[in-house]
Amino acid sequence: MYWQKEIETMDRVQLKKMQLDCINKQLALAKNAPYYKDKLANITELKDLTEITKLPFTTKQDLRDAFPYGLLATDLKNVVRLHSSSGTTGNPTVVFHTKEDLDNWANISARSMYCAGARNTDIFQNTMGYGLFSGGLGFHYGGERLGMLTIPLGPGNSKRQLWFMQHFKTTVVHILPSYALRLSNTVKELGINVKKDLNLKIFFIGAEPHSEAMRQKIEELYGVKAYNSYGLSEISGPGIAFECRYQKHLHIWEDYVYPEIVDPKTFEPLPDGEEGELVLTTLHRQAMPLMRYRTKDLTKIISEPCECGRTHRRIARITARTDDMMIINGVNIFPIQIEKTIMSIPEAGKNYVIELFDHNCMDKLRIKIEVNNDTFKGTLKDLEILQNRLINELKQELDVTPIVQFVEAGSLPVSEGKAKRVIDLRERTKSEAFCC
Ligand code: ADP
Ligand code: ZN
Repeated sequence: MYWQKEIETMDRVQLKKMQLDCINKQLALAKNAPYYKDKLANITELKDLTEITKLPFTTKQDLRDAFPYGLLATDLKNVVRLHSSSGTTGNPTVVFHTKEDLDNWANISARSMYCAGARNTDIFQNTMGYGLFSGGLGFHYGGERLGMLTIPLGPGNSKRQLWFMQHFKTTVVHILPSYALRLSNTVKELGINVKKDLNLKIFFIGAEPHSEAMRQKIEELYGVKAYNSYGLSEISGPGIAFECRYQKHLHIWEDYVYPEIVDPKTFEPLPDGEEGELVLTTLHRQAMPLMRYRTKDLTKIISEPCECGRTHRRIARITARTDDMMIINGVNIFPIQIEKTIMSIPEAGKNYVIELFDHNCMDKLRIKIEVNNDTFKGTLKDLEILQNRLINELKQELDVTPIVQFVEAGSLPVSEGKAKRVIDLRERTKSEAFCC
């Protein structure tokens, strides 16, 4: 049993009192970090949660600039683990943990998995990357804390994944949504009947943006319930917000982080229900407390009570990361809008790539999608009709007319980690001769 009733159903007045107390303690601790020393020097105890706006924001760039130890707020002798996020340019962001931090993280991870229905009788296969990426180890310790038989398989090697699922009767799987789709090709290739040959019950899908349509596809493919799991390395990793069995939005653990939503342009706080950038202040971190960390993730806070009785508010599915936004001839587009439309077409396969390029000083959007050989049995002419149908649907959704190109199943590149969907070739394809 990992139902922390007292905390999970805590009266909100009491919860807010606890948050204020924790923020003040984190504030005092953060002053030890070289990065925060001057920034927080003149900020005294907050009297009320609304005074949180007195605290400065912290960004991913700040973490990079403070590399390697600038955000460490405790003595090195207390630090037992380092994680690092997958920064592609410049210094990576580094995150430190004390024993207590790891203990708290395992606690919220176990709580999250329990809340979606995992129990200590479950067999848990963790296909997330182990190592610097926080996805693997985070839920590994959560799974063990919950008491599940935890199989630390890590990502890739699809045949081996399925072999373990068959032989050990795996019931719970932690998996990237893009990998869940890809793995189903191997299920088919090996002639595995997911209902008869496997014993799957629950998938935890997260670490990358995905649409409701994608969740439904995964649920159909494996005959499971797929729960949305949100987290980020800077705060700890997976387990920060999680869906309960009602699968309606994600409870954000408000005894662990203090969430705010701010306008992504003005950074002014927005009320519950309005979409903006999620900002998180840690409440217990000992190695690396973070003040108002700007996640760049767009969502809204849902304050209406959930049927499950938990009092911690929920956040809506992340619609996008602010830095994922593509501006195509002045129109703002998020990759998830494209994904949602593709997923609604059964003849479209599971893998796709979005390419941006320049043509006579105009941005062009090209979407390459693998054909789904199971559902598409038509002729080239039929493929053309399908292509046009998708162009029209995308045009409605995006306000931009894309080029759609169906390609053979299995021909697009795959990545072992998070899927890389967008390739921006605009700079490279710009022709001096044409550009004004
Ligand atoms: P990064 O991807 O920045 O290298 P992380 O591995 O810590 O670093 O990933 C955290 C990010 O992954 C989040 O800020 C968010 O953008 C994305 N993410 C995590 N979980 C989800 C989810 N359930 N839905 C959408 N996006 C998610
Ligand atoms: Zn709930």
